[in-house]
Formats: sequence, C-alpha cells, structure tokens
Amino acid sequence: MSNTVCKNCSQRFEGAFCNYCGQDARVKRIDRTYIVDEVTNNLFQLNRGLFFTIKELTVRPGNSIKGYLEGKRKQYVKPLSYVLLTSALYVLTTHFLGLNTFFQDFTAGFTSGVTDEGDSVAAGILNILTWLTNNHTYTVLLTLPLFSAASYLAFKKSRYNYFEHLILNMYITGQQMLIYLLASFAVVEDSITEAIPSLLGIAFSFWAFYQFFGNYRPFVRILLSILTYILFFLQLIVLMVIGTVLVKL
Ligand SMILES: [Zn+2]
Repeated sequence: MSNTVCKNCSQRFEGAFCNYCGQDARVKRIDRTYIVDEVTNNLFQLNRGLFFTIKELTVRPGNSIKGYLEGKRKQYVKPLSYVLLTSALYVLTTHFLGLNTFFQDFTAGFTSGVTDEGDSVAAGILNILTWLTNNHTYTVLLTLPLFSAASYLAFKKSRYNYFEHLILNMYITGQQMLIYLLASFAVVEDSITEAIPSLLGIAFSFWAFYQFFGNYRPFVRILLSILTYILFFLQLIVLMVIGTVLVKL
C-alpha cells in the first residue's frame, strides 16, 4: 500500500491511513453493508465507552477524571455526552416507572411551610425555587457553569483552569444522575428516605473531589468541598434576588 492519494485531502501517503487527515486508505462505497457495519460499530463503541466510563467513575472517580484531563481520553465517553446521556436516562426512567422524584416533594413541603406574602421578594424567590426544583435535572445541567465557578474559586490554588473544572463537574454530575436513578428505588414517599438520593449524590462529589485534589491535605480538601457548595448556593441566591428585583421593576 504505497503512495496512495488520499480521497479526502488529496495528499500522497503510505500505509493504511492518511497521515494528514487520518482518512482510511481503503474507502468503500456507501451501501447497505457499509451502513450496517457503521451503525453496529458506533453502537458497539458507544456501549464499550459507556461501560468503561461508568466503571471508572464508580471505582475511582477523582483519579479517572484526573487521568482524562492529563490525556487518557480515548476510552471515555466525552463529558458533555456523558452527562446528557445519564440525565436523559434518569429523566426517562423516573418518568416511565413513575418513581418518586424526591426534589418535588422537598419543595412542596418547603413551600407549604412558608406563607405566600403576595408581591414580596421572598415570595418571588420561592416561586423561582419551586420552578428550579420541579425541573431539577435541567437546573443541575444549567447551573453546571456556576458550580464549576464555585469549585474553581474554592480550589483556586490547584493547577486546574475553569474549563477543566467544568469537565470535572460534568463527569461528577453524570455519575450523580445514575446515583439518583438507583437511589430513587429506595425512596418511600413522605418519609426521611426522600433525602437518600441527594445525600448520596453529595457524598459522591465529596469523594470525587477528595481523590481529584490529592495535592491538598485531606482536611483542607473536605473544607474546600464544603466551601464549593457554599459558594454555589451564594451565587444562586444572588442571581435569584437580582432576577426577582429585575422582574419587579
Ligand atoms: Zn488525507
């Protein structure tokens, strides 16, 4: 296979793949066999990548994400795909199995405990909070940039930039979706068990951070993880106040 002209970029190359663009030397015509092979291969690869990613994030979350950032990326499902895939799985499964979505009950209880004071800012914030928790999966996805800003600020002295924090939190959130999904089966309505999924999810993020930020002393890692959540909620509160005030103007 010497001196082939690449059908993609017209460069001459030797070997099985073009060394300019990576195109296969043997380009077959697109027909039924090609499509069947293509679909099977893609599904197989996605499957293999998905199982590998789930396994790694379950067994050694922080270390595997660190490895991903350092360049061991080929075997993993990409972070955004992963978090979207697991979120969809969570939303669809809980919807079709009619599983108890703990966040909704949590807010319902919270809302009934506070008397609606008409047009006050507190009532406005409560309305936003209710919407956010009723759509908690979207909320989690939409607030990922904020959560990442929080972890970035808390762990400022680590060598990771904001976008690496974003990747870290996408993988953690993706894994949390699977935890929520499994934990939903253990939830009994109107009981203390409703807190199980969130607690497990938070515990997981602490564990992942603990492994990931191995450069810090153990005690500091835990403190900074707590600080991350505090900074995150502060940002949410500030945004909700601003939003409510703007709406009232
Ligand atoms: Zn080429």
